[in-house]
Amino acid sequence: MTTTSMEQIRNWIDGEWVASTGTETETVPNPATGETIAYVPLSTTKDVDHAVKVAKKAFETWADVPVPNRARFLFTYLQKLQANKEELAQIITMESGKTLTDARGEVQRGVEVVELATSAPNLMMGDALPNMASGIDGSIWRYPLGVVAGITPFNFPMMVPLWMFPLAIACGNTFVLKASERTPLLAGELVRLFHESGFPKGVLSLVHGGKEVVNGLLEHPDIKAISFVGSEPVAKHVYETGTKHGKRVQALAGAKNHAVVMPDCHLEKTVQGVIGAAFGSSGERCMACSVVAVVDEVADAFIELLVSETRKLKVGDGRYEENFVGPLIRETHKERVLSYIDSGISDGAKLIVDGRKMEDEPAVGYYLGATIFDSVSKDMKIWQEEIFAPVLSIVRVKDLGAGIELTNQSKFANGAVIYTASGKSAQTFRDKIDAGMIGVNVNVPAPMAFFSFAGNKASFYGDLGTNGKDGVQFYTRKKVVTERWF
Ligand code: NAD
Repeated sequence: MTTTSMEQIRNWIDGEWVASTGTETETVPNPATGETIAYVPLSTTKDVDHAVKVAKKAFETWADVPVPNRARFLFTYLQKLQANKEELAQIITMESGKTLTDARGEVQRGVEVVELATSAPNLMMGDALPNMASGIDGSIWRYPLGVVAGITPFNFPMMVPLWMFPLAIACGNTFVLKASERTPLLAGELVRLFHESGFPKGVLSLVHGGKEVVNGLLEHPDIKAISFVGSEPVAKHVYETGTKHGKRVQALAGAKNHAVVMPDCHLEKTVQGVIGAAFGSSGERCMACSVVAVVDEVADAFIELLVSETRKLKVGDGRYEENFVGPLIRETHKERVLSYIDSGISDGAKLIVDGRKMEDEPAVGYYLGATIFDSVSKDMKIWQEEIFAPVLSIVRVKDLGAGIELTNQSKFANGAVIYTASGKSAQTFRDKIDAGMIGVNVNVPAPMAFFSFAGNKASFYGDLGTNGKDGVQFYTRKKVVTERWF
């Protein structure tokens, strides 16, 4: 790793690694072992100003680089990411704790967004209508916005930053990234490989830190748009503050994703699907399944198989293939999750798999085994709030209508999945469910890069999601020309 020393991470501004002007740092542990792997600086608004100034200057020339030439830089970047896939996955596992299998999947999903961004010449094309009135032509043209900033969460240190800067930069913007202070190392690698792809300096900057950097970006007069992904309260704050300061904002937030299990589902595949969606990445996914609404008729059979399969899952360091559930991101997060488990018990839910009791519990690291509650109801905190851990709630419902009604009572509406063999049930689910991303017998229905990605209700603040056509619209402004020539 050449971007950082293991002692002190630096920012990337104006084509070089520079020390933050902040005096405070945060320790970055490996969640699997608790060992310190780095110290991340809590940068200041002075660092933000520096990065934005450089990005503003770089925009003057970057926006004029012909679109196919911008795309060519991204082709080089794509090759570099592909050539470093395994190293990138290992860094993700080291700093986030997710298993290597999950990390490899994340790397692939990130690379796919860069593939999308290489199509910038197609994506940025406008529209034209000749002779729309006598002798008059009409056309729409797309232009970049200027300096754009991205603020990202810990749980996808590669994929989420790549949802943002490659497309924004392909569209002619320059970009300032504020990665999660809990997973800062991978961001450094993304920036290093970007620089090695030949992009001019100032096109991409990286400023590490927490709240002060976020608020500095939200209030900065020279930033035109903010892309945010993180928890719901922060997304709301980012949206309100950013828009108040005249910026375009897309803020993707938290979730409480439901799966509805119908009596005609394929039982074994459904159980395996729910296990992958609920306990994969230790449940630290915005698209994790955290509630199953199972129809009474199949409930006992489904739960019996789910419990016996869940008990087979191994908990431990994600570097080793036999482990399915890795650690949680921090000890403090684990404590919060344990208090949710206590609240589920005291609210009367039935704890049918207790992840606090692990066979061969690792001596170090922040582990919690897969946990399942039965007989959960919607007045319980464990149904209402995002736990962000391998904790699954089961609610028994009488039919599809009741499953849909329950799901739509959540304040969140990110993803939702139905397991069924009936086209009609699937169609009804698709039409009636509030969620923005829907799966039919697909466990984690995260859209691929050429579709846009965003939820509804409290899972999303804004109008245009990330990726796909939404992403291009978000990072460009339009001009409509009406012209007549004599
Ligand atoms: P988080 O909200 O704690 O942090 C996200 C970013 O906001 C970080 O860069 C952090 O430094 C910054 N931040 C945190 N607190 C802040 C504050 N008070 N003021 C200003 N900035 C602040 O989120 P996290 O724990 O890193 O990530 C997990 C969350 O992200 C979950 O809620 C998950 O559902 C959500 N998420 C959503 C999506 C989606 O597509 N909807 C994708 C991934 C993660």
